Amino acid sequence: MKTIQMVDLKQQYLKIKSEIDTALLNVLDSSVFIGGKQVTDFAANLSKYLGVKHTISCANGTDALQIAMMALDLQPGDEVITPSFTYIATTEVIALLKLKPVFVDVDKRTFCIDPAAIKNAITPKTKAIVPVHLYGHTANMEEIMAIAEEHNLFVIEDNAQAIGGDYIFKDGTKKKSGTIGTVGCTSFFPSKNLGCYGDGGAMFTNDDALAEKLKMIANHGQKIKYYHEMVGCNSRLDAMQAAVLNIKLSLLDEYISARQKAAGYYDKAFANHPKITTPYRAKYCTHVFHQYTLILNDINRDELKSFLEKNNIPSMIYYPVPAHRQKMFEAFGGGDYNLPITDWLADRVISLPIHTELEEEQQLYITKKVLEFINK
Ligand SMILES: *Cc1c(COP(=O)(O)O)cnc(C)c1O
Repeated sequence: MKTIQMVDLKQQYLKIKSEIDTALLNVLDSSVFIGGKQVTDFAANLSKYLGVKHTISCANGTDALQIAMMALDLQPGDEVITPSFTYIATTEVIALLKLKPVFVDVDKRTFCIDPAAIKNAITPKTKAIVPVHLYGHTANMEEIMAIAEEHNLFVIEDNAQAIGGDYIFKDGTKKKSGTIGTVGCTSFFPSKNLGCYGDGGAMFTNDDALAEKLKMIANHGQKIKYYHEMVGCNSRLDAMQAAVLNIKLSLLDEYISARQKAAGYYDKAFANHPKITTPYRAKYCTHVFHQYTLILNDINRDELKSFLEKNNIPSMIYYPVPAHRQKMFEAFGGGDYNLPITDWLADRVISLPIHTELEEEQQLYITKKVLEFINK
């Protein structure tokens, strides 16, 4: 049996090695390292795949979120509603821009922001909502968009974990996760569902004027070289990463299927176990399983984790400390929040290895060991 990893990037690379090597050598040969055809092709290819008008690439997912918030002209003190149960990048950029993060609770089943909690948190200062499509499950965007429309709020989707997922509206209309709100943001960090071989990120929108602004902000606020119309930053996807992404985008649906198949295997093995809650799938989306995350009921998580580790099975806690409990947010009243579901989940979730190269033999071993610990 191959060594089990949370993500097996090496095996994935080996399957597409000749294509990747050729593409990277072509970039070297052209010596166009910044910008160029690979980068513009990738934006066009991703727009087509997602069914969105504009894709603006940038240096990473954190920058994508920051640039999106800058482009929406949010002002210091404006309130931005966000889940606390997320990767730190989502909430960090809000504070970095001197906006006020307003943390709300998540839905216990989907792990994503709870629309009812959003409603309760709206004040006259609220300007935007940042739903996070955690673990590959899209947040309840239909309800979120209705709230946003009613209160005239921007919606910035953090789609770093759910690229390629479908969202199905009540009338049957389908849209890709990340293309529903005002602007969607994603990351191409190597371990993400669509990952490059370094850092990368992108923003999506159907709004022409906003697209123009996102592009300018990512490029020092300029449209014409050396004429800077607004304060921006330097955030770009390089040609080598774009070359890798062009190849991997063509395989994304296959990669998602492999993840869904692996998730199905785990589901079956843990079905109806009284101490394990397997990931819920809302009818309105297709789960793309960036992570396969269990909720443990009445199990010592640390002991399970070290038992698995001793048996050469990695596992991860995404995320052990929610944003409102981070020292970083003390000055933002972090400790004053009462987010019972977030705290409850942070103490009980555990993510098992899931990736495109996971083999049944490995999953059989993983599930056997998990059940061995829990049933003992
Ligand atoms: C990975 C991730 C980010 C940040 O992406 P980087 O490319 O690492 O900056 C933001 N939000 C979520 C939910 C993520 O998983």
